[in-house]
Amino acid sequence: MLSTVIPVYNEAESLEQLFAELCEVATTHGYELDVIFVDDGSTDGSWAKIVELAGRDSRVRGIRFRRNFGKAAALNAGFAAVRGEHAMTLDADLQDDPHEIPNFLAKINSGLDVVSGWKQTRHDPWHKVLPSRVFNGMVSWLTGVKLHDHNCGMKCYRREVLGEVHMYGELHRFVPVLAAARGFKIGEHVVQHRARKFGHSKFGVERLIKGFLDLLTVKFLTTYGRRPMHPLGTIAAIAAVWGVGQYGCRALVEVLWTSGRTPLISSADEQLTSAVYLASSSTSDLVTLYFWLVVSLLFFLTGLLAELIVATRGPNRDIFSIAETVGHTSDRSTS
Ligand code: UDP
Ligand code: MG
Repeated sequence: MLSTVIPVYNEAESLEQLFAELCEVATTHGYELDVIFVDDGSTDGSWAKIVELAGRDSRVRGIRFRRNFGKAAALNAGFAAVRGEHAMTLDADLQDDPHEIPNFLAKINSGLDVVSGWKQTRHDPWHKVLPSRVFNGMVSWLTGVKLHDHNCGMKCYRREVLGEVHMYGELHRFVPVLAAARGFKIGEHVVQHRARKFGHSKFGVERLIKGFLDLLTVKFLTTYGRRPMHPLGTIAAIAAVWGVGQYGCRALVEVLWTSGRTPLISSADEQLTSAVYLASSSTSDLVTLYFWLVVSLLFFLTGLLAELIVATRGPNRDIFSIAETVGHTSDRSTS
């Protein structure tokens, strides 16, 4: 059985053709097809189309979110409903070609856990392609998961991976990184990419800054997600040592300076000036010391809170809300 998870956000015009192509591939290659459409709060009649397809064909199931929760949440909800041994994700806009599915399965069967698509020749405008190249380079370099196209909508997963990778927000761009961090084997496969036929892209230029911030989150999550006190506590210790060290050095210099100067101070005036200077300089030194100690304390307390969260985090981390489902959905998707 081959499950396909398809996030849908205002793609009504594409669904009929997409389903027809999926059926054609399944028939040709003898797959038992399981199509899961996740309607991520569409307002264009996508859900009506999904209901129609599910009514016509029992291989189609649909999940409708109450509002738009994002592609990552849609994929998560779809993953929870997967019945097949393998799951293929595809974008709903017909940019991903279902005829590539057999190639993905062949790679998975060669011993990989996740096969990510690589849109080597892209049919998108340059202002999408260029930033995407830079982004992919950065992700590969920073995370060590070397893929040309982390954000390709077309990916194939072994079922075990799905239960372990939790996405939210726009973390769908990092599924291979999150999976690799759990020890799964990742590979890639060059896919034919098609131009968008209907509708428009749902991701604008703001995805650049979001993608970069998410990259930092993912780097932190995959490296220190289970031990946040290590980096935060280290910063706390550095701040404390820096503050105390600086204060100690200044105090030492001042003691040496005054002990050298005292015999030379003769008049009461000079003594007063020197005392005022020392008092004001030691006050500012103290303020600096307190500053670094407070910084240190903040990092330490944040680390403690983070550890508490990690230690007591409940099992239910879903952040979407399902309004209704259609087709023979399994209990896993509706619970
Ligand atoms: N999508 C979604 N929720 C969103 C945005 C997008 O489910 O909030 C779906 C969308 O319907 C499509 C896929 O994610 O099936 C990829 O979106 P899009 O084609 O707009 O991205 P692009 O190809 O331009 O990167
Ligand atoms: Mg697209």
